[in-house]
Amino acid sequence: MTPAAYVTLNLDAVNHNLTVVKRYAPQAKVMAVIKANAYGHGLLRIASQLEGIDSFAVARVDEGIRLRKAGMTQRIAIMEGFTCAQELDDLIEYRLDPLIHSFGQLEIIERCSTAAAIDIWLKIDTGMNRLGFSTAEFTEVYRRLATSPLIKQPIGFMTHLANADDRSCAMTLRQIHLFKQTVNGCPGPRSIANSAGILGWQASHADWVRPGIMLYGVSPFADSNGADFGLKPIMSLHSRLIAVKTVREGETVGYGAAWVCEKPITMGIVAIGYGDGYPRQARPGTPVLIDGRRVPMIGRVSMDMITVDLSEMSDIQPGQPVTLWGPGLPVEEVARWSDTIPYTLLCGITQRVQIVEQ
Ligand SMILES: *Cc1c(COP(=O)(O)O)cnc(C)c1O
Repeated sequence: MTPAAYVTLNLDAVNHNLTVVKRYAPQAKVMAVIKANAYGHGLLRIASQLEGIDSFAVARVDEGIRLRKAGMTQRIAIMEGFTCAQELDDLIEYRLDPLIHSFGQLEIIERCSTAAAIDIWLKIDTGMNRLGFSTAEFTEVYRRLATSPLIKQPIGFMTHLANADDRSCAMTLRQIHLFKQTVNGCPGPRSIANSAGILGWQASHADWVRPGIMLYGVSPFADSNGADFGLKPIMSLHSRLIAVKTVREGETVGYGAAWVCEKPITMGIVAIGYGDGYPRQARPGTPVLIDGRRVPMIGRVSMDMITVDLSEMSDIQPGQPVTLWGPGLPVEEVARWSDTIPYTLLCGITQRVQIVEQ
């Protein structure tokens, strides 16, 4: 018997999606972004499946250490860098490439007496206003890094796009221009593009691209699905019907008594809820796939269950498989119904959900 709620992973798709990255940015090296447990797909599972990757990128030092301890030999960029001397020692020991984004980090580097030399990426803030040095600080920071015995030369340069998923926004070209102008004349590789940059902004491709969401087969744009770019989703979320009943006119369904039955319906109860990572904000009407057909969710999402209107289906029995997203129902669409982005749905699958690799 399959578990009530489970995820299937079509792992072959990740290398297919990588070929799409390379088709869009054929000159660039690829830094595969596998932070946050590879967007919920499993850090080591995705890292070991990917073929021909030049570097991985994760957010935190501990994610990088897990990859090294599992035997990964590629470069590994740590996008939040480090915050103390102990973390810098770990980076050196495990040959991880930190992002340098603050003067506090520079001081730790300058106090470090280790003889090793490490690869780093210098993060420049061109408008995101999150991590990174301002363009005004660049000259001083570059001089200090270029003369540090701890730092391998040439160093890499990175910036992050704030609004690349809006293909009509002029900010992206301004960020690209500012970045190129700032690092002009300095030797060393450049990296700008996330998935939206790769798919939407050729001028952002530079020497290294950093695909995240598109590797998992999902579109970074609110108005399209991964399939529009030839991407194949890896993750599908499944459950099954555990009860079928009739609801009479005037009765309500679920918490808050928020959903009122306007005509008698056949209702199904599906064993999935926010305790599994199904979004609580999913609105009534959110489609769910049963037997290849879409039926609308009704009522509120609870921790372990959702309710669906089965009136359009005939002869439906408890036990029937249900797909919450997967083939025939893109996760992007469920995200739109839930006023969120697919990133949060992929990352949000919880421990209780069993994972079935395909
Ligand atoms: C998460 C992240 C990426 C990948 O973004 P996607 O939109 O998933 O492609 C790239 N660069 C940085 C700095 C990131 O934090």
